Amino acid sequence: MGELANCLKCDKVFVKITRSICPSCIEEEEKEFQLVYQFLKKRENRQATIPEIAEGTGVSEEQILAFVQAKRLNPAKFPNLHYSCSRCGNPIAAGAFCFNCQSELQSDLKKFEEIEKMNQKEERKRNRTYYTKGQ
Ligand SMILES: [Zn+2]
Ligand SMILES: [Zn+2]
Repeated sequence: MGELANCLKCDKVFVKITRSICPSCIEEEEKEFQLVYQFLKKRENRQATIPEIAEGTGVSEEQILAFVQAKRLNPAKFPNLHYSCSRCGNPIAAGAFCFNCQSELQSDLKKFEEIEKMNQKEERKRNRTYYTKGQ
């Protein structure tokens, strides 16, 4: 049994099974996907960018982006289906960040963890001194 939810797209109440949008929006999305897919299948459109596809199909750039992010449109086949890294704006075709930002964020995270560890050590030291003094 599904639970009742509001559709993310049209706000209608529906029985949620797997997706967070209602069946009629899924159907709508499917139609849009077919439009985009049929458009891209044409040889002359293979190199189309997202704004060009939006113009050619009438499907919103946001929705096309969602198809790319859901990996329904394969950037390996359509080389211009990239979007901007959420951090620096470089073109990317998967995930939320470009390779550079990903590794920078990872090292930032490591630094953060090291600082956390050091803080915890300091904390323990301080606690120990406190306890010895208190005895
Ligand atoms: Zn809906
Ligand atoms: Zn980036």
